[in-house]
Amino acid sequence: MTDEKLQKHYLTFETYLRRSKKEFEARIEGEMKITAQLEDFKLMKVLGTGSFGKVMLCKYKEDDNMYAMKIMEKVNIVRTKQVAHTISEIRFLDAFKFPFIVSLQHFFKNNVYVFLVMPFINGGEMFYHLRSLKKFEEHLAKFYTAQVILSFEYMHYLGIVYRDLKPENILIDSSGYLKITDLGFCKKIDSQRTYTLCGTPEYLAPEIILSQGYNYSVDWWSLGILIYEMCAGFPPFFAKDHMKLYEKIVSGKFSCPPHFSRAAKDLVTNILQVDRSKRFGVMKSGTKDIKGHDWFKGLDFDIVFAKKYKPTFIPVVQGQGDTKFFEPYGDMELREASFNEYDEEFKSMSLK
Ligand code: ATP
Ligand code: MG
Repeated sequence: MTDEKLQKHYLTFETYLRRSKKEFEARIEGEMKITAQLEDFKLMKVLGTGSFGKVMLCKYKEDDNMYAMKIMEKVNIVRTKQVAHTISEIRFLDAFKFPFIVSLQHFFKNNVYVFLVMPFINGGEMFYHLRSLKKFEEHLAKFYTAQVILSFEYMHYLGIVYRDLKPENILIDSSGYLKITDLGFCKKIDSQRTYTLCGTPEYLAPEIILSQGYNYSVDWWSLGILIYEMCAGFPPFFAKDHMKLYEKIVSGKFSCPPHFSRAAKDLVTNILQVDRSKRFGVMKSGTKDIKGHDWFKGLDFDIVFAKKYKPTFIPVVQGQGDTKFFEPYGDMELREASFNEYDEEFKSMSLK
């Protein structure tokens, strides 16, 4: 994008963000409406599993459409002290409205579980495609990166840090565009700092590892890791042992494969700066350092945002419920209980 075009983009995008913030604030204050129950769905198969539960493909009997249902057991959430995180995950999923972030369709609870129902994004995880293609061509990596940048600008404008960027949490829809999923670590911080250690080892920023207070800077760091991993096929800092991995991350030393373009190498190096006062995305000029970087020359953020580019990679699926891009995970038996477990903990669904 030329300087002039980029400037214009910032003006229109800022207007969009301002309006989005108003909408978000109205939604996040409101009551969560229960619009469905477990019996309204036919559960089909496990799509994914994570630390807090499983995600299942299901069919909503009312409209015959396929959805992804995240099923989290209340007892697990309470035991691992994740009640507040889970409530904020649901609230944010419900209140976010952005083209590259997955949305909430229904939410409900029963005696044992909390359920989140989202549209089924059937192109699979970026992780799946990155492993099968080995690495992405830079133009594809660039196209995906642009969508993550816009999503981060949206979240950060709302005062929220994401903290869990990685190829497993990025889904590709049937049109080839992205949907970020898993808002489990999203946190409203506004202009404060936070200290919690969370995220995925390879994607952790040095300031998290060093227990320094941190803010939006950690998301930009993880973007640098993602760009590197998409272009290389492996992350910049790698070790079997977590302690060794953390040592490498805080040292900030890594090297780029020779096939990286000069611009890719320069951008990644400027984002993966241990010293936050030198990190692209965090400095005074904000995201302009990234969006205006040479690597994005020729890419128009307005066209990405309007989804007007034809992606060079489109996952080919046979119908809405095709799960060929999801690894088989086996079955899931739902437990039943004769009383409403941990009702108190999940009674108020408002953010603390
Ligand atoms: P983590 O261990 O990363 O914290 P988690 O328990 O919070 O995981 P999610 O990351 O939300 O769970 O979901 C687990 C997996 O389920 C995702 O990586 C993805 O493969 C799949 N998944 C989640 N949401 C959807 C969706 N809307 N459509 C299709 N698949 C989905
Ligand atoms: Mg996840």
